[in-house]
Amino acid sequence: MRENKTLFIFFLPVICCLLSAILTGCVTVPSRPGYSTYNLHGAAYISLAQLCNSRGIDWQYDIFTQTVTLQKGLHHINMRIQDTLILVDGAARRLERPVDIYNGMVVVPYSFKERTIDSLFSQAYSPSSQTLPSITIKKVVIDAGHGGKDAGAIGRTGLREKDVNLDIAKRLARLLREKGIEVVMTRISDIYVSLEKRVAIANNSGADIFISIHSNANRVRSLSGFEVYYVSSTVSDSRRAISAATNVPLRLASASFASNSFDLKAILWDMIYTANRAESIELARSICRKMDRNGVKVLGVKAARFEVLRGARMPAVLIEVGFVSNLSEERMLRNSYFRERISETIVAGIQDYSRNCELTAIARKR
Ligand SMILES: [Zn+2]
Repeated sequence: MRENKTLFIFFLPVICCLLSAILTGCVTVPSRPGYSTYNLHGAAYISLAQLCNSRGIDWQYDIFTQTVTLQKGLHHINMRIQDTLILVDGAARRLERPVDIYNGMVVVPYSFKERTIDSLFSQAYSPSSQTLPSITIKKVVIDAGHGGKDAGAIGRTGLREKDVNLDIAKRLARLLREKGIEVVMTRISDIYVSLEKRVAIANNSGADIFISIHSNANRVRSLSGFEVYYVSSTVSDSRRAISAATNVPLRLASASFASNSFDLKAILWDMIYTANRAESIELARSICRKMDRNGVKVLGVKAARFEVLRGARMPAVLIEVGFVSNLSEERMLRNSYFRERISETIVAGIQDYSRNCELTAIARKR
């Protein structure tokens, strides 16, 4: 799709070289609080998604025309990937560096935020003034499935599930941290971590939700799509509760519970697991709804007896981001833009789930 821009691409290095020659030596890098920055074309870049989210700006990227549209109130900005020319409310302006794609993200020079966004939307954007409540989820455990000696599924062109899982898990972690949510990861490199250890990390983290990332595979090569699992009710809550009651001290506020009997602990754990399953289904539905709206083929929310979900004592879902056994999905899963979009959409699903939790909490108080 870039072929029709050959002329422009031809001149791009020239423009870049000229700009960097002029600016070398006089660029200082100030701190940029709240933004993850990337060094590109000799300057600091930030993610457009992060910028727009922090300022309440709607934005869209058209992968086919490589154009980006920003919209807030009466203002709109048009931009094009690898172009320095932008249109602000229809009037042409030049950026010092081009808009670009980096690691699957649309990125803009930090100076674009300072010179265009800050001046166009001078009034500070306060999320609290929005109609939607803020996020109630404070901490998330992200589990990148497989790793090390366990490669997981392997696609026909050699794509390894463990690598896809880890990359998407890292993207998810970055996006959640950008929203001020604490993230605990069960692995951050290509190492083998046992299921028991993954569950232990989750349960010791004090996190609100647990998300395990996997890629699917099936002997039927034509199978494709995105699906989210929660722990099946065929796994007896009572059995899990008895095991939890045996192993885990319940921290209860009331002193009268301090000497709680084994039975009481089991009953309490049973209640916690039943509530967690309902929450897990809600979370799974929120994520699938967002995927569906973003044009991703969704197979749906399903129950299964995954070991890693079974042990988690918090709402927990296992996401199958796509089938590496399907040729076209394997190709998509290789693409960093697709991975970023999947990650952004999962985050949007978590946000929706979190907002609904908050609304339920508000409704209960009334
Ligand atoms: Zn897997």
